[in-house]
Amino acid sequence: MLKGKTAIVTGSTSGIGEGIAKALAGQGANILFNGFGDRAAIDTLVADTAQQFGVKTDYSDADMSKPEQVRAMVANAEKHFGSVDILVNNAGIQFTAKIEEFPAEKWDAILAINLSSAFHATAAAVPGMKQRNWGRIINVASAHGLVASVQKSAYVTAKHGLVGLTKVVALEMGEHEITANAICPGWVLTPLVEKQIKDRATKEGRSEEAVKNELLGEKQSTARFSTPEQIGALAVFLCSDAAINITGTTHSIDGGWTAA
Ligand code: NAD
Repeated sequence: MLKGKTAIVTGSTSGIGEGIAKALAGQGANILFNGFGDRAAIDTLVADTAQQFGVKTDYSDADMSKPEQVRAMVANAEKHFGSVDILVNNAGIQFTAKIEEFPAEKWDAILAINLSSAFHATAAAVPGMKQRNWGRIINVASAHGLVASVQKSAYVTAKHGLVGLTKVVALEMGEHEITANAICPGWVLTPLVEKQIKDRATKEGRSEEAVKNELLGEKQSTARFSTPEQIGALAVFLCSDAAINITGTTHSIDGGWTAA
């Protein structure tokens, strides 16, 4: 379905981004991986994806908190692959604290990585998409793009901002075959959430299993985590021809979190 198209997936060395990158590669898209981690493991991921799905892959170590690196990543991908047709703004970090204790540098980092990087990448990618009259922009927001939780002021602010950005981009791209959508996952068991579980278990002197069940029980009627593969399948659908008129909106995959 996506043969000949190229996708950039930011933060795809782990978790949801990796799931989306593999799902798009499974449909024939070339992939530019991005994110941090052990370099040997990243090289293996990039090479294995190319081999498994018969697509071209590459890797950028661009830091999403640095606007010039974000824009250079897009420009280099256009040169290397010939086009950037799908942009998945997924890279993200988390930090929790009460607002009066929230470190200013954590606020700045979350806003830069979880929100501003999507602005810079989108601005750099849309001229080429307009020229080719085809594009898909997928912003990985969160249930926290729609509702709030305590101790997550920066994260909730960034994710609400990302939903707003998605809407503006959709309106500006309306006359082209370019859509912009936000995926809003609830709990997905990735390193980002495993760290929250571990921190809470340590702080409260409880088992990680107990905290896991409590997290799910607090928010999701299904009491089940979503998987990166399920988020990847939704991203594939949003890239399909069937989704051409779906734009400027949010797609929850949250086990009922935002139904309450
Ligand atoms: P993760 O920690 O497994 O992956 C995060 C990815 O972002 C990694 O590849 C990491 O290297 C990369 N990254 C972090 N800082 C970066 C930077 N400065 N520059 C480039 N890459 C950077 O987390 P995840 O759970 O897969 O999260 C992916 C996205 O999904 C995030 O935007 C997160 O907010 C969102 N999300 C996650 C959940 C969840 O339950 N896991 C729920 C809703 C939304």
